[in-house]
Amino acid sequence: MSAVPKPLPQITPEMAPFWEAARRHELMVQRCRGCGTRRFPARELCSRCLSRDAGWERVSGHGQVFSFAIMHQVYHPAFADAVPYAIVVVELEEGARVLSNLVDCPTADVAIGLPVEVVFEDVAPDVTLPKFRPRRAAA
Ligand SMILES: [Zn+2]
Repeated sequence: MSAVPKPLPQITPEMAPFWEAARRHELMVQRCRGCGTRRFPARELCSRCLSRDAGWERVSGHGQVFSFAIMHQVYHPAFADAVPYAIVVVELEEGARVLSNLVDCPTADVAIGLPVEVVFEDVAPDVTLPKFRPRRAAA
């Protein structure tokens, strides 16, 4: 364990529904009410149809690695024990792309197209981080 606590995400008003859902261990993304496009992070304007009308929708948490980076450099002392670790952009089955960490996976096995599923890490009493792990094959 590291002696220095990891920094917690800043919870903006726009992203509050996402973090509230994460505390319930649910993954939610914003969905445009104009054209149905799902997006992450939350934005005021739909980049596809320019509608400002949007809501939040629960998604499966299933997707695949769209792109990734393996972090070797320690940019914050709290992550000294964590390197190397994988930062991934996950393309959800429903269409939005979410930036997160990939866990339970050797960094050598991280690959574009890897099927993943969401997992939830309770890091503080009121903060839960959605992360992803390789999806286990259905038995
Ligand atoms: Zn739209």
